[in-house]
Amino acid sequence: MSKTVRAFVGVGANLGFSRDAVLNALADLSRLPQTEFVAASGLYQSEPIEASGADFINAVAELETRLAASDLLAHLWSLEKAAGRVRTERNAPRTLDLDLLLYGDEMISTEMLTVPHARMAERAFVLLPLIELAPDISIPGKGPAAKLMRKLGQQRVFRLAN
Ligand code: ADP
Ligand code: MG
Repeated sequence: MSKTVRAFVGVGANLGFSRDAVLNALADLSRLPQTEFVAASGLYQSEPIEASGADFINAVAELETRLAASDLLAHLWSLEKAAGRVRTERNAPRTLDLDLLLYGDEMISTEMLTVPHARMAERAFVLLPLIELAPDISIPGKGPAAKLMRKLGQQRVFRLAN
């Protein structure tokens, strides 16, 4: 039997019915093969960073998976694609962004995949939901998420009511 890895996936949307897109994505993640859905953070609302448009709705999901990191990423792509196909015109911006944030304590650097996700340590909309799920988690190569969060400048992000 292959090993089980604790992975965290970041979910974001800022086009159309963003809250529904995030909730649907969390439901989709709970149906991934060879994967147990452990927990989802609450929903957060954040201002766009390096992006335009409406505020984002963000969340993080915690998974226990036997999928290889590259296979998990391929599943995330197909979920993004399916969400975009259902909810937008052709060539419209994506309604859903799924990022592989952490895959155990592995550091991965390929053309397709950088883990830990390259910009997660600077983004409050990633760190806050991640810390909600795993208060003591460390980001390989960067240090404890809670400490990174305290070092961030002001970013507008808040947790939505359950
Ligand atoms: P963002 O970095 O803002 O999420 P995109 O979702 O448009 O931007 O980036 C998608 C690209 O990022 C994909 O081509 C994918 O191969 C690459 N990528 C590298 N590392 C990761 C990761 N950890 N999770 C998701 N996509 C990744
Ligand atoms: Mg992405």
